Amino acid sequence: MADTFVDSIMETVEARNGGDVEFHQAVREVVESIVPVVEKHPEFTAAGIVQRVVEPERQIIFRVPWMDDNGQVHVNRGFRVQFNSAIGPYKGGLRFHPSVNVGIIKFLGFEQIFKNALTGTPIGGGKGGCDFNPKGKSDNEVMRFCQSFMSELFRHIGPDTDIPAGDIGVGAREIGYLFGQYKKLTNTFVGVLTGKGLDWGGSLGRTEATGYGLVYFVTRMLEARGKDWKGQKVVISGSGNVAIYATQKVQQLGGTVIALSDSNGYIVDNDGIKLDTVRQIKEVRRGRIKEYVEEHPSAEFHEGWQGIWSVPCDVALPSATQNELDETGAKLLVSNGCIAVGEGANMPSTPEAVKVFLDGGVSFGPAKAANAGGVATSALEMSQNSMRLSWSFEEVDKRLKGIMDSIYTQCVEAADTYGCNDNLVAGANIAGFLKVARAMMAQGVV
Ligand code: NDP
Repeated sequence: MADTFVDSIMETVEARNGGDVEFHQAVREVVESIVPVVEKHPEFTAAGIVQRVVEPERQIIFRVPWMDDNGQVHVNRGFRVQFNSAIGPYKGGLRFHPSVNVGIIKFLGFEQIFKNALTGTPIGGGKGGCDFNPKGKSDNEVMRFCQSFMSELFRHIGPDTDIPAGDIGVGAREIGYLFGQYKKLTNTFVGVLTGKGLDWGGSLGRTEATGYGLVYFVTRMLEARGKDWKGQKVVISGSGNVAIYATQKVQQLGGTVIALSDSNGYIVDNDGIKLDTVRQIKEVRRGRIKEYVEEHPSAEFHEGWQGIWSVPCDVALPSATQNELDETGAKLLVSNGCIAVGEGANMPSTPEAVKVFLDGGVSFGPAKAANAGGVATSALEMSQNSMRLSWSFEEVDKRLKGIMDSIYTQCVEAADTYGCNDNLVAGANIAGFLKVARAMMAQGVV
């Protein structure tokens, strides 16, 4: 039954979504994991739950024209995929990066459905973005672009319909410009975006949440092996929001982060990365990671981002982008003694890399569980907006930790119940799917 079921779902998905290879990859992983669930629940098959869950409820593609500082007109393509609203309004980030296309947004939106279900908060799955590259643009150019993007998006979103947030290339600056335009167009001041500034509806702890949550999740993975962070050497790819705050939390818990990267290459500082320098380069100057060695000459910079996996470490946290860690990188990590991998980015490990980790006895925390802290805290931001009050940093961080603990427990229990012991990939997919499937059953064929 297993092969026929997976083949029949994949045949339709591949036929309907031509060259969207990342989307095919994300769907295949989930569909393969849920075979034992579908076998146990014939009512899901009768109700066409899996066929429905792999098809977005709505996909919006739109033109985004804007003018640069020299008066030249540019046209980008914007996307919002509203994937599944069974357990709450659509929720998921916006990505601004030249590689964005509808397939990337579909894969991210699909993953988001199950991730959001795991958080235990009432949010459905969606994702959006644009093939716009904010790198090298002036603040005014970014503002005009964001205003144009929101001039179309605003009619499709709302605080009870769809609540976007940040992702690659969308940070506090972009969220500010997007929110300003939404407010002007609708004449409402509502929690329609998360990741807002602290003075205008944002939540303490949201900036740190994905990185911190990742480290809380991996803490549980290490505990299961009788270990903690003290003395662990850690390699983290990327140097954006997720990587920076994962680094901060690892350092607070006694680990040593020795490498970070961006799309040009990676730095290695065996004495431990000086996070103040990285934050100055990336958050203030919007510079490149190689500038780190100018201030710390004993550190090294190497061209090429994929080489980072050759740096020997105990724990690896891929936190840059999809498919950045392949079979070769995974084999290097295993042969160099890595014991745990936690995914900060979405789908950073290829299927071949995941197999290497699972076969090699490495504890592996998949993205939809390990990086769910960001969206969970976005849901906490929505709650605070609805109540029109603000919790302290300590309150938000305590709730985040509780949510990450609960996600870990759900993954372990689901894996146990369905005979996939210790496999957190299967556990995350099964636990997330079950919650969404039950809600879809209750709501009928819609
Ligand atoms: P940022 O834009 O803050 O940082 C992205 C980092 O990844 C940068 O260092 C960037 O380098 C690097 N990167 C991006 N694309 C590539 C590429 N094609 N090749 C190599 N390096 C690349 O993004 P975030 O930190 O927010 O997001 C990182 C990952 O985490 C993404 O997969 C995102 O979907 C995921 N995530 C983020 C959440 C959040 O709350 N922010 C929540 C959950 C998941 P460069 O500057 O050179 O492009």
